[in-house]
Amino acid sequence: MQNTKVLISGASIAGPALAYWLDRYGCDVTVVEKAPGLRTGGQAVDFKGATHLTVLERMGILEEVRRRQTGGTDQVIVDADGRRLAVMPGEFTGGDIEILRGDLSALLFERTAGTCEYVFGDSIASLTDTGDGVRVTFERAAPRTFDLVVGADGIHSNVRRLAFGPEESYVRFLGHYYALAQIDAGDGNRMYNEPGRMVTLGGPKAPSFFVFASEPLDFDRYDVEQQRRILMDAYRGGGWRIPEILARMPEAPDVHLDSISRVEVDRYAEGRVVLLGDAAYGNTLGGFGTGLAVVGAYVLAGELLAARGDHRAGFAGYEREFRDYAKVARQGSAGPFLAPRSPARITMRNWIFKRRLLLGAMLKMTDRFATDIRLKDY
Ligand SMILES: Cc1cc2nc3c(=O)[nH]c(=O)nc-3n(C[C@H](O)[C@H](O)[C@H](O)COP(=O)(O)OP(=O)(O)OC[C@H]3O[C@@H](n4cnc5c(N)ncnc54)[C@H](O)[C@@H]3O)c2cc1C
Repeated sequence: MQNTKVLISGASIAGPALAYWLDRYGCDVTVVEKAPGLRTGGQAVDFKGATHLTVLERMGILEEVRRRQTGGTDQVIVDADGRRLAVMPGEFTGGDIEILRGDLSALLFERTAGTCEYVFGDSIASLTDTGDGVRVTFERAAPRTFDLVVGADGIHSNVRRLAFGPEESYVRFLGHYYALAQIDAGDGNRMYNEPGRMVTLGGPKAPSFFVFASEPLDFDRYDVEQQRRILMDAYRGGGWRIPEILARMPEAPDVHLDSISRVEVDRYAEGRVVLLGDAAYGNTLGGFGTGLAVVGAYVLAGELLAARGDHRAGFAGYEREFRDYAKVARQGSAGPFLAPRSPARITMRNWIFKRRLLLGAMLKMTDRFATDIRLKDY
């Protein structure tokens, strides 16, 4: 292989998954992560269908992922008095295997930390393509030169901004926001809707999980207090257990709010820089992000190997093999499904979960999306 000195930005799922394959193919991999350490916890993510499971198996982690799985819990949709309206089955929300994002990230990190270099608490400040490499400056560390740089740094990708252009050109807001709060409200896994807002308490995704419709909001993604205020404003006057949750909100140790958005890039690579995972094909809460990240890492690394490290041919191969499979992320939005804007739409959404045949058809359709790629043996 040529071009073996690779810098990956982001140590969540896509980054460490790619590090695994590139290291196995003989590359010298550095991963830089903005957070001070591996980010733990939060939500559950899931894998669905033979393609995802085959890649996990080829990585030798399928059994370990199964061992750490959380999934399979049904979610009960309730009315304002807590009475059951419908049940969202575990297989719908949790795919074939559901695992906490933090646990999966830790597992991928454990498999790569011994042979790859991880730099926490730092971020790329600038990228300069010099023709035969990429000169990288960091916010803290000294400048270095790499053969290739990979942006695996999520929907708000720093690498995409530096190499492709401003976020507004590539991230489309889909009309809803989601929020997670560390408010433990019991194990009930109950979901409650009012027009344009949803709250789920005690579910596997997060202790308290919110989705609400909104005009675009101007806020600082690193200002937790501001996010807490926005969330409290959005849920004021709500029924069911919302008043109790709002009363506990000021003391919640962690609140995270972000838009439900979709990434739309017309190409995955720009010179020696390439995007992977949510940075390239994110669709918040779309349900395929983790599977796409893991399969994308397999295909990107495999195509680079097949091209003996020639980045032009390798990146073109990644684009050719993967773009069609990633189409699922270019469609739909979880917002209107989780927090429909009218009572009629809420009733209609709940109705789906009372019709086994309809639900079965929906599950089959998502299965087809998740398996619609012919995986090569690299
Ligand atoms: C509440 C919730 C529920 C979800 N449920 C599901 C689900 O059920 N099924 C599913 O498939 N997916 C789900 N997802 C999505 C899933 O987590 C991601 O799609 C998937 O993990 C892809 O990960 P990624 O590594 O590409 O990006 P991310 O997981 O977003 O990771 C990006 C990493 O880059 C780091 N980073 C950011 N900026 C910088 C920088 N400047 N420098 C260095 N590092 C940086 C971040 O700290 C982070 O570690 C869910 C997401 C949320 C929020």
